[in-house]
Amino acid sequence: LKLGIDIDGVLADFTRSYGELLVEVSGRKLLPEDFYKGWEPSTWYWERELGYTKEEEAKAWEVINNPKERFWTMLDLIDDSAEHYHMLRAINRDNDLYFITSRPGKSALRQTKEWIGDCYDIDDPNVLICHQKGLACAALELDRYLDDKGENIQNCHLHSPKTEAMLLNMPYNAEFNVLHRVDSVEFAFTHGGC
Ligand SMILES: [Mg+2]
Repeated sequence: LKLGIDIDGVLADFTRSYGELLVEVSGRKLLPEDFYKGWEPSTWYWERELGYTKEEEAKAWEVINNPKERFWTMLDLIDDSAEHYHMLRAINRDNDLYFITSRPGKSALRQTKEWIGDCYDIDDPNVLICHQKGLACAALELDRYLDDKGENIQNCHLHSPKTEAMLLNMPYNAEFNVLHRVDSVEFAFTHGGC
């Protein structure tokens, strides 16, 4: 099958690194007490809810966008278990898998390829940097696509109705009205005949 998968919030723990970066650039520790103990944001712009200012946000993104910082190569895996590692490698081996992300920054593509190579020992992973996930799904004629952002799945429904677009269940996307929701990467790609 032809499959697509988002990275941040699905495979990579962007929230953790971004939170740490906000503390670093602002000098203000506004993260919740259980930040390292399974905390999950309940809104998309959780940093604003925690009290970080637009200026502090911008400072963090300046770091992320600076290729020298290599931010995208340093994220933790959401699931660092051996089971997850082998599962993702098997999905990549047995299908045409595209990693589709809207990460910004001049070297986001290269950094992302490097991160996937490091985490999963996948040589030359198929990475696309693009905001229009639905158009990407249509152009690539993907059978399935998984993302954690509600708008992206709605965009897929709109532009690529033949793609089975699935939303990964998270507290911050609970209100989105989409056709398919799944609880895990495994469920999205290993159930139903992949
Ligand atoms: Mg995401």
